[in-house]
Amino acid sequence: MINSSLKELATALATRKISSVELTTLFLDRIERYNPALNAFVTIDRDKALAAAHAADKNFGAGGTAALTGIPLAHKDIFCTEGWRTTCGSKILDNFVSPYDATVVEKFKAAGMVLVGKCNMDEFAMGSSNESSYFGPVKNPWDLERVPGGSSGGSAAAIAARLLPAATGTDTGGSIRQPAALCGLTGLKPTYGVVSRYGMIAFASSLDQGGPLAKSAEDCALMLNAMAGFDPRDSTSLERPTEDYTRDLDKPLAGLRIGLPREFFAAGMDDGVRAAVEAALDEYRKLGATTVEVDLPNSGLSVPAYYVIAPAEASSNLSRFDGVRYGHRAADYADLNDMYARSRAEGFGAEVKRRILIGTYVLSHGYYDAYYLKAQKIRRLIAADFSAAFRECDVIMGPTAPSVAFRFGEKAADPVQMYLSDIYTIAVNLAGLPGMSIPCGFDQNLPVGMQLIGPWFGEARMLNAAHRYQQATDWHVRVPAAFAA
Ligand code: GLN
Repeated sequence: MINSSLKELATALATRKISSVELTTLFLDRIERYNPALNAFVTIDRDKALAAAHAADKNFGAGGTAALTGIPLAHKDIFCTEGWRTTCGSKILDNFVSPYDATVVEKFKAAGMVLVGKCNMDEFAMGSSNESSYFGPVKNPWDLERVPGGSSGGSAAAIAARLLPAATGTDTGGSIRQPAALCGLTGLKPTYGVVSRYGMIAFASSLDQGGPLAKSAEDCALMLNAMAGFDPRDSTSLERPTEDYTRDLDKPLAGLRIGLPREFFAAGMDDGVRAAVEAALDEYRKLGATTVEVDLPNSGLSVPAYYVIAPAEASSNLSRFDGVRYGHRAADYADLNDMYARSRAEGFGAEVKRRILIGTYVLSHGYYDAYYLKAQKIRRLIAADFSAAFRECDVIMGPTAPSVAFRFGEKAADPVQMYLSDIYTIAVNLAGLPGMSIPCGFDQNLPVGMQLIGPWFGEARMLNAAHRYQQATDWHVRVPAAFAA
């Protein structure tokens, strides 16, 4: 059961081979046994989970079930969850219990999925290693001395260790794809606007997008079916016809044109990563795809542009955490301003403070044109580069991350080194495109991720390319030895 696909679990549940209560108990027991070593969860609620599982089992009796009914999942702790503590990985929200559900949470509830817990994450989703969480770092199940990637590292570690079949994540600059790569999973960041951001605590609103993490492309397609859709409560949500993201999974790949950005394959990635990615491209050619070199001339500017735009938006979004409305309030203060200052000084961690300072600076009167406006222009050029590239190809491929999982502390002391972990993923967010990471091999016994990037709304084709590859290879079914049973 722990290695089963969502489809297999759905069949087992529908044919009553197992009940949702039994399945949920199985995963809850694994969480209890393994989570102390991994720290993948901030909150686990056995009672709430079993109550939801009971309700799902009753639905099977009544015949009212959807594709995911009765299957356990967890949400990244950035999604507001009614009656559950929602921390966003921060001390400032340590005691915050959400009064309402995020749209994504609502949708999974409506689909009958069983929420078992909330996953650990980098504080306010700022990070690439999960070391910035107030609740301590998450460990990578492939090697407990290494990071799981970030910021959705708790979700990724939980699935990689088979503590759950699937989970949600969010991706502002790589936070679904990069931990998927470092933990040997499949993760998908949808086109901006496809998944509602309502109730998803905002980091950088023009970049943030929720998406699934799971073991395979097929599982991600099923999860996305449940998550996606127009939401009038999110002003950036797109009103488009409902899609079935599984519809093209089995299409043959003959004729698929894969674009290989010269900039991605220049120096920068580790040799072992390059070898795995090139072997995967050979496999794609065997499956009938052709490859063509494309140019993304401004992609080298994506990290600097992102680290102006994302902090600018964060500095504004995080101004709501003031000790008045919710979250941590300093115990001692002289007056109102002092209360704000102390609550924020005590409540936010170092990385979050760095971003607020940078963001406030680049938006300030004297520097707005020089930094913020310039970064927005670069963003436009990056999107135009992708438009041009997609005239020559159907999907772009390359590495997800420059290296496999790194050791704790290896990059934490140097923010710029950390920021460069997302060198291949950030341009996708700046352009609002859909992107995925799929496992494509190993380097130093650690998983390597391959990135797929689609044109706007190209999720189904991208999932098709990922699924056919996963039918031909077995990288995505490997399990870290310590968690295999
Ligand atoms: N690592 C990037 C950052 O720290 C991206 C994080 C994310 O996608 N949430 O901002």
